[in-house]
Amino acid sequence: MTFELTVLGSSSALPTSTKFPSAHVLNLHERFFLIDCGEGTQIQLRRSKTRFGKINHIFLSHMHGDHVFGLFGVLSTFNLLGRKTPLHLYGHSDLSHLIDFYTNHFSPENAFPIILHKIVKRDFQLIHEDKLIEVYAFPLKHRVPTFGYLFREKERPYNIRKNMLVKYKLPISMIKLLKEGKDVYTDEGELLRNAEMTEPPYKRRSYAFCSDTMFYKKLVPLLNEVDLLYHEATFAEEDKKLAKLTGHSTASQAATIAKMAGVKELIIGHLSNRYAFPDILLAEAREIFPNTNIAEELKKYTVALSK
Ligand SMILES: [Zn+2]
Repeated sequence: MTFELTVLGSSSALPTSTKFPSAHVLNLHERFFLIDCGEGTQIQLRRSKTRFGKINHIFLSHMHGDHVFGLFGVLSTFNLLGRKTPLHLYGHSDLSHLIDFYTNHFSPENAFPIILHKIVKRDFQLIHEDKLIEVYAFPLKHRVPTFGYLFREKERPYNIRKNMLVKYKLPISMIKLLKEGKDVYTDEGELLRNAEMTEPPYKRRSYAFCSDTMFYKKLVPLLNEVDLLYHEATFAEEDKKLAKLTGHSTASQAATIAKMAGVKELIIGHLSNRYAFPDILLAEAREIFPNTNIAEELKKYTVALSK
């Protein structure tokens, strides 16, 4: 039941000698999701010891170079490694130009299908799910159409206590109702209360990715009680005007969103290189939302199970 985020790249538009452009990999129950694919993503994937063949889904936030320039390298390497499994890409419809260019010019005999899921609706929407997890896209507010992504476990069923299973020899129909959290009656009319029959399930865990965006209050209800939030924080408060002008956030604004949404932990990234001491941004964010940290590349961020 792994829930582990690795930040592969967290710089803003210009990479530095110590920071890569935007890319994250999220391991949810051994499903590996790549989020953004800035230049150098495949190198960071290697360093993080992520197996390339495990990645079947890539989510792109928007069509700015620092978020997508690594895509050609990743696709090309997948092909060289003999990949045959379909790869699902999610993002703005313009992504199709990039994929067409790649396949026409660099990989006319690409051996694995690339399935593009164009995100067109401008609201909170389910874009992928399986029996354990669900992924939502939602609009951010930037200079070009940009999407954030929310990754969440599905509600787990209640666990029936073993001794109760033995004691009552429950039929499948009753087990189903109890797992849904309901009380049931036996054939003899005895009420079996769910609270006595079952253990409560673990709370579902969640991670949200918001880069790039200016301060956008509409995010607050979507990010309600998220366990781990990555929010861009390109500028310090003194450059608030520049943040608005360029479609980015200040560290205080990122922290305000985290506080209003009641998230548990905030990671800030996409910090501008103009600040020699990024701790200024961290201090500004912590003043509003204390549980904030600057993204550390290749560090594993885990979300623990809780009841
Ligand atoms: Zn951008």
